[in-house]
Amino acid sequence: MKTTVVWFHNDLRLSDNPALYEAARRGAVVPVYIYAPEELGKRAPGGARQWWLHHALQALDQSLRERGLYLVIRRAAQSLPVLEQILTETGADALYWNTHYEPQLWERDERIRKTFQQRGIEVREFTSYLLHDPDAVRTDSGQPYGVFTPFWKRVLQVVKVPEPLPAPETLRAPKAMPISEPLEALELLPKIDWAAGFRETWRVGEAAAHQRLEWFLRNAVEDYHTLRDRPDLDATSRLSPHLHHGEISPRQIWHATLRHSKGKWTKGVEHFLRELGWREFGYHILYHHPYTQERALRREFDTFPWTEVETPAYKAWTKGRTGIPMVDAGMRQLWRIGWMHNRTRMIVASWLTKNLLIHWRLGEAWFWDTLVDADPASNVLGWQWTAGCGADAAPYFRIFNPVIQGRKFDPDGTYVRQWVPELANLPTQYIHAPWEAPESVLKQAGVELGKTYPYPQEPLDKSRDRALEMLERWAKRP
Ligand SMILES: Cc1cc2nc3c(=O)[nH]c(=O)nc-3n(C[C@H](O)[C@H](O)[C@H](O)COP(=O)(O)OP(=O)(O)OC[C@H]3O[C@@H](n4cnc5c(N)ncnc54)[C@H](O)[C@@H]3O)c2cc1C
Repeated sequence: MKTTVVWFHNDLRLSDNPALYEAARRGAVVPVYIYAPEELGKRAPGGARQWWLHHALQALDQSLRERGLYLVIRRAAQSLPVLEQILTETGADALYWNTHYEPQLWERDERIRKTFQQRGIEVREFTSYLLHDPDAVRTDSGQPYGVFTPFWKRVLQVVKVPEPLPAPETLRAPKAMPISEPLEALELLPKIDWAAGFRETWRVGEAAAHQRLEWFLRNAVEDYHTLRDRPDLDATSRLSPHLHHGEISPRQIWHATLRHSKGKWTKGVEHFLRELGWREFGYHILYHHPYTQERALRREFDTFPWTEVETPAYKAWTKGRTGIPMVDAGMRQLWRIGWMHNRTRMIVASWLTKNLLIHWRLGEAWFWDTLVDADPASNVLGWQWTAGCGADAAPYFRIFNPVIQGRKFDPDGTYVRQWVPELANLPTQYIHAPWEAPESVLKQAGVELGKTYPYPQEPLDKSRDRALEMLERWAKRP
């Protein structure tokens, strides 16, 4: 019987997994996951994603076991020798995987492809991580896109999203199935258990991803366009970590959403699918400009004098102790559950890069370590967008005012009260700006500024003016 090694990456699911589907049609299947963080260098999964990965691998292994197989897990410095060994051991004559887009892995994949092809092994790659092919979608003059709206318009015109594939009906094991290392050997779980909030919040795995999608379609998609900016509500899909790890594919989401709306592009549906478009756009930029992982897409910002040292102000930001309630609420939500609402991501990123004038790279690195959905494309896109130096970026002079943002998007202060409990008893009028409250009000709410909750680390107006001045001076540089 023909035997195919299926090499899993960010596609930890059985359904709509073209590499697995085609391998199963061909004969016996050896599902393999190799954890080789050294190959990714600085882009190895951070702590929060390691936690997720542990549970995602466990869930995938369980689903395979229910079908009489199991996941062959290996920890290695390099993937190639492991694949060589597994192909030899099993007598497999083919190696399949689904394309992933981390620039760090392009050379490795090329080497692996060539090595096995030279040995007569059939090597095939399939696409399922994105809706569009970054090579195929181009402007009329053949250039990659740099602005979201025309990009998305073109994707909607030219891309016909294929129907997702079902999970293979049967999976057959080869005669010689390699043993797996225990999942624990990957040491993905934290040694000091900080993950209680993660466990309370998330259900990991393919089944959980589909349940969450169903919940979202039944309860939230129709109001998505009006409520998606409200961090105090459970009004977005929260599918980002599932999507990042490939527990669900974007085309599964696409088709399920349109099935739910009976093909109607209602406002909610349109806005939701458009957000998936931002994910596509992030990968479009990363694919065509891989240097953006380290440097601004708008290269002139390379000389912008951001601070790139971990100052006390930066540390207070990471801990959610800036004295700005919306910023602190976001940063504490991030720490506790490994996820933050998009609106607050923009607010905290604007505070760091503009009011504190700290480099977006430091913020991006913190998110990289703490987000369960930390993604090489979307994270960089989000940070550069907010800092004003990326694709389709908000102009540098647009500086989010966290008090106004809070009053608009967390109107009752529910979000702040949840994540900054020491402010919970403040009247709504002052919840986003406790320093404006009269002493008697603070006292009654049990708040002592500088003691139970910090004073703002920077005055809002002064730090805003300083950022604008700096920009002006920099823009006029010789
Ligand atoms: C500074 C900053 C950093 C970010 N870092 C990441 C990151 O590391 N990983 C990540 O997945 N997203 C990132 N985002 C984008 C966005 O905040 C999250 O995708 C979103 O909050 C996830 O929640 P959700 O699944 O409920 O989104 P929904 O609102 O339900 O959207 C559905 C899906 O669309 C995609 N999406 C939505 N908004 C965006 C966006 N602005 N850019 C790219 N894709 C989007 C996500 O895959 C998301 O799951 C970042 C945004 C900012 C401003």
